[in-house]
Amino acid sequence: MPLKTTRWRPDTCACVFEYAWDDAEPQDTRALAFARRLEACAVHEGAPPEAAFGHAREENRRKNVAVGALLAAAAARRGVERVADPAAVCAWALEGSPPRRVRVTVRDPLLTPADRDAAAAEIAAALGPGAAIVE
Ligand SMILES: [Zn+2]
Repeated sequence: MPLKTTRWRPDTCACVFEYAWDDAEPQDTRALAFARRLEACAVHEGAPPEAAFGHAREENRRKNVAVGALLAAAAARRGVERVADPAAVCAWALEGSPPRRVRVTVRDPLLTPADRDAAAAEIAAALGPGAAIVE
């Protein structure tokens, strides 16, 4: 039984959604139930609200996985737990049709081609082929 409602503004588009969730469920396995769409961005306005929610979640996940892999690689290269300036490690953009693929552009001069390839392989394994491009 969903007990809580959260208003979500993804950082990957301008939509605003509300979803319901059960705080008795562990966070890692908790299901998020679409509740309603409050605002639709230009990319997602053509889709029914619940489908747009699914696309926005998937795009947000793709961005988080791809950027997270590169931040982890950059942190490992420096021997630190977290990099101080994530924006200096990579930039990201979404492209194509919803759910859009994420394109991550590596900016960190300390990341070697091997680091980049390893991160790209990790991202592809997590997201499946075609969901992300690392350049
Ligand atoms: Zn949107």
